[in-house]
Amino acid sequence: MSVTTLLTRRACERAFRLARRPRPVSTTPRLIHQRAASSSKHPRGFVPPTDEDLVELRDRVKEFARREIPEQKAAETDKNNDFPSDMWQKLGEAGFLGITADEDYGGLAMGYQAHCIIMEEISKASGSIGLSFAAHSQLCVNQLCLNGNADQKARFLPGLVSGEKIGALAMSEHSAGSDVGPDAHYIIVYSKTDPSKASQGITAFIVDTTSRGFSCARKLDKLGMRGSNTGELLFEEVFVPAENVLGQVDGGVKVLMEGLDIERLVLSSGPLGTQFSTPIAHNQLIQAKLADMYTKYRASHSYTHAVARTLDLAHAEPNNRPNTQDCAGAILYAAERATECALDAVQLMGGMGYVNEVPAGRLVRDAKLYEIGAGTSEIRRMVIGRAFNKEYAAR
Ligand SMILES: Cc1cc2nc3c(=O)[nH]c(=O)nc-3n(C[C@H](O)[C@H](O)[C@H](O)COP(=O)(O)OP(=O)(O)OC[C@H]3O[C@@H](n4cnc5c(N)ncnc54)[C@H](O)[C@@H]3O)c2cc1C
Repeated sequence: MSVTTLLTRRACERAFRLARRPRPVSTTPRLIHQRAASSSKHPRGFVPPTDEDLVELRDRVKEFARREIPEQKAAETDKNNDFPSDMWQKLGEAGFLGITADEDYGGLAMGYQAHCIIMEEISKASGSIGLSFAAHSQLCVNQLCLNGNADQKARFLPGLVSGEKIGALAMSEHSAGSDVGPDAHYIIVYSKTDPSKASQGITAFIVDTTSRGFSCARKLDKLGMRGSNTGELLFEEVFVPAENVLGQVDGGVKVLMEGLDIERLVLSSGPLGTQFSTPIAHNQLIQAKLADMYTKYRASHSYTHAVARTLDLAHAEPNNRPNTQDCAGAILYAAERATECALDAVQLMGGMGYVNEVPAGRLVRDAKLYEIGAGTSEIRRMVIGRAFNKEYAAR
């Protein structure tokens, strides 16, 4: 590919960003009402993207993935287990890292349907780069958008949205770790500040990884999602200034809960990417299996995008909350189907499916993560069961 073509395509991406802003300002009473009563999950003045916007966005992401994440890059990332840091500025230039962020901080403010589309298309090219993307854009950037004050947004969002800085989230205790943690510049850390108050004694902090006392004890050697580095992080007497407390002291659970449903929704698009990214040989004897795989993929796809659409369309409701059981349901369903489809892909390819020269094995390893990360399948079933009981008990 020539440099000129590359530049032209980059210019197109920038044009796409520019085309999204300024936002269409309408003086109709309905929109004025929407602006006045904006949702706590979207930037002020959010207007849901049209179907046309979403189709255009998907084309852009596909184009980006074809150009920047060919199969060779995905295979190399998996084999070398190296985080592709060169990708971050490219994703930033394309506008993908701040897809839900306010335009004032360089974001595109396009909402969660758009976020799911980017996650899905990047994951089709590489599950691992998709997971790193979500750790950055949802677990860090969107959590800052939902919970940060104006000063924090102004200090942290521009660099994270442009891709100059890398973001992560650390919540799990010892032995699990944090995605992108070893490569991140800023990490949102949930820490016990008053252990006597159990869950009401947790605080969320924005930690700069250049702080004295911070280190990554080790990078974990994982089964899948290799290159989306997961590390055990050490905090030894790390000083975090008061202005880096995200939300209230001892209010970390609220911060966590603000993002958890949406995290599950956005992550449910990852397994969509891993379900159908392998071209499979045309063989009449395997049509039934292919039909099952296709049906599982389409059902997962519809579920995830329906939940994202509902969330975006409910933006005018000031108290709108994503539906907990559907956010958990979308990822529960998509994740398990992704593992099944990836295993079927191995089977369909026979011996070659078991050889690392083809990506089927990588898809199995990558897909399995989605049954574990962001709360396991067991926990999701519990979340759904509880929400279901609560809803019906109230009737
Ligand atoms: C690749 C990878 C990336 C990760 N990235 C991050 C990250 O970026 N940030 C971060 O903070 N964390 C991260 N994690 C951690 C991840 O969120 C946790 O591993 C996950 O939530 C499961 O928690 P756990 O490992 O403590 O398992 P456990 O909670 O110890 O669970 C072990 C088993 O017991 C089951 N179980 C537990 N409780 C119950 C129950 N009440 N009822 C029935 N079954 C139960 C579980 O379903 C599971 O099968 C990552 C993990 C991996 C593998």
